[in-house]
Amino acid sequence: MHGTGSAIDMAQGEWPRLKPIETGVRCRCPRCGKGKLFKGFLTLRDGCEVCGLSYDYADPADGPAFFVMMFASVPAVTFALMLQLKAEPPLWVHLLTSLPVLILCCLLPLRPLKGWLVCSQYFFQAREGRLVPVAAAAPPEPSTDGEG
Ligand SMILES: [Zn+2]
Repeated sequence: MHGTGSAIDMAQGEWPRLKPIETGVRCRCPRCGKGKLFKGFLTLRDGCEVCGLSYDYADPADGPAFFVMMFASVPAVTFALMLQLKAEPPLWVHLLTSLPVLILCCLLPLRPLKGWLVCSQYFFQAREGRLVPVAAAAPPEPSTDGEG
């Protein structure tokens, strides 16, 4: 690891600010919008091959999985419930229909959502919190109205 967030700071002034929703959903570099973000299905590249931006800053952690779980549950469970209520099929029918629907509802949005979160981290310069040194923090105004 090198420089906490300095790559983000230096980059912001020289490039147009691209909207994270536009670059992220297309899985493109948040800085230039041209380079690829992933080298596999969900594995981030080391950096952009077009503009050279390092993706070291990117750490969406469980974010994509959490959001996909929240959003995918609605259509997948609705489909399984409607199928059960309307047709009352045996269990194997759910294995052949509801399970693939559930898997598709989870896998399809995962990559664009992760791209969106990574691009949002770049756009909003999100990074780990840092403590401000005591000397740099402004002291509070002393109260002189003698309450108490
Ligand atoms: Zn780039």
